[in-house]
Amino acid sequence: MARVFNFSAGPAALPETVLERAREDLLDWHGAGMSVMEMSHRGKEFMSIAQQAEADLRELMAIPDNYKVLFLQGGASLQFAMVPLNLIGQGGKADYYLTGAWSKKAIAEAKRFGEVNIVADTSDSKFTTLPAEGSVPFGPDAAYVHYTPNETIQGVEFHYVPDTGEVPLVADMSSTILSRPLDVSKFGLIYAGAQKNIGPAGLTLVIVREDLIGKAAEGVPVMLNYATHAENDSMYNTPPTYGWYLAGLVFQWLKEQGGLDRMAEINQRKAALLYDVIDNSDFYNNPVETAYRSWMNVPFILEHPDLDAKFLEEAAAAGLKTLKGHRSIGGMRASIYNAMSEEGVKALVDFMSEFERKYG
Ligand SMILES: *Cc1c(COP(=O)(O)O)cnc(C)c1O
Repeated sequence: MARVFNFSAGPAALPETVLERAREDLLDWHGAGMSVMEMSHRGKEFMSIAQQAEADLRELMAIPDNYKVLFLQGGASLQFAMVPLNLIGQGGKADYYLTGAWSKKAIAEAKRFGEVNIVADTSDSKFTTLPAEGSVPFGPDAAYVHYTPNETIQGVEFHYVPDTGEVPLVADMSSTILSRPLDVSKFGLIYAGAQKNIGPAGLTLVIVREDLIGKAAEGVPVMLNYATHAENDSMYNTPPTYGWYLAGLVFQWLKEQGGLDRMAEINQRKAALLYDVIDNSDFYNNPVETAYRSWMNVPFILEHPDLDAKFLEEAAAAGLKTLKGHRSIGGMRASIYNAMSEEGVKALVDFMSEFERKYG
């Protein structure tokens, strides 16, 4: 069986060594005589898995002690609601950046729970640019400022962290978490669905500063209150145990790779390879302003869209899969998260050059 280079935006490729380890453990985890899937979440075996995963994540991201790490379900999309339900306060308001498809959804959801101020809006550019650093005016009375550091669909990424002063900064990091080092202390809350750069679908990570816990509006369901999960070490009810375990294997793998500094170097090189091929051709085009191009999701359009189907067919035949662009954008998209090797990106750019030579 040959494994392909999988450029899926999510659920996305996982490191092969992680999958191999999971296979070794599948029937019998470390002599427990059972699979991690079959274990009580409160038993000592799973407790050790859970604690190790959290410790490794804290080390990788240098998460300060006054932040809780929550292992939840519901995806990033549930966080679109949980963030305002917990933080916006009664009749409160929050500032949001509108920079692409995912922030648009976050905004639509937040509007159900309070007043949303759109402090930056790049829709006129069709979401191909971002506000320059320091250019966004924040309301000092906002409960928080929400932004999407990497817009997975448009392929635009902030390469800076907005300075919001005393106002807590909330970030949907679903498609960029762990791609590089981060100063967590600049954030009030970070959330991410696991299925892009952490592990399998079904797990959602929330990293939240302790003083922001316990502010949920009256009537918020127990399961949607951060306090519930923080007070119970994410074990108020059954957590997504297998996803948590696999995420732990990914964190170990990241440490073995040399941590996030090293991942940042590799990710930057991978992205540069792809953008170089695109920019040095009249055949491929990426519309995103150079300074804001994503390291993780690289959309590109073929000059001749009638060649799209042939491109996808020949790419698949060459072992390069899931390159079709998002339905709202068209063209292609190569998602090159941590688990995509440089070798995979080289195979893709070689294929692109050859395809251009044949049909360009
Ligand atoms: C994929 C994605 C989401 C949606 O995640 P779900 O876990 O499917 O809810 C939200 N935000 C961003 C930036 C994403 O990439």
